[in-house]
Amino acid sequence: MAVGISGIVWITTGVPAWICALAIVSGFGGAISVTYKQRQAQLVERSKPGANMRLVTTLLQEKPNWRPKKFLQIKHRGFLFDPYGFDEIPFPLAVSSPMCPQCRHDMRFRSFVDWRFRIRSKGRCPNCGFEREISGTGAELEQAAWEEVCPIVRTD
Ligand SMILES: [Zn+2]
Repeated sequence: MAVGISGIVWITTGVPAWICALAIVSGFGGAISVTYKQRQAQLVERSKPGANMRLVTTLLQEKPNWRPKKFLQIKHRGFLFDPYGFDEIPFPLAVSSPMCPQCRHDMRFRSFVDWRFRIRSKGRCPNCGFEREISGTGAELEQAAWEEVCPIVRTD
């Protein structure tokens, strides 16, 4: 198609077809480069940790007599999470980071932009070697588990 368009341009403007083809290909390459760099910047922004544990740490400071409590473990998108709260409140306020479904060790995530410019992450358990690829980042996975298990989630 690039050659067809450049051929038409050459006929109408007199510019040689190979120069038009080169301009179209380099323009396409430039657009890919710009899109990739934008996605990389989004990846960095979307990998930042959320406000998940902030409420628990604040309450720990302000209510030193409250007793921390671990609620029933949940499974979200194939990973395990421990919900946390206090004996004094009947529901969880935060979740742990994602854990391995085979050995319960903390997972490590490496995020990247794939060939379709989607942000994806590869999770790997450093203890047993379990691996799973997810869409989005590890921070977004944790946020989604938090929103699923905690009835009062504020993201501001
Ligand atoms: Zn494991």
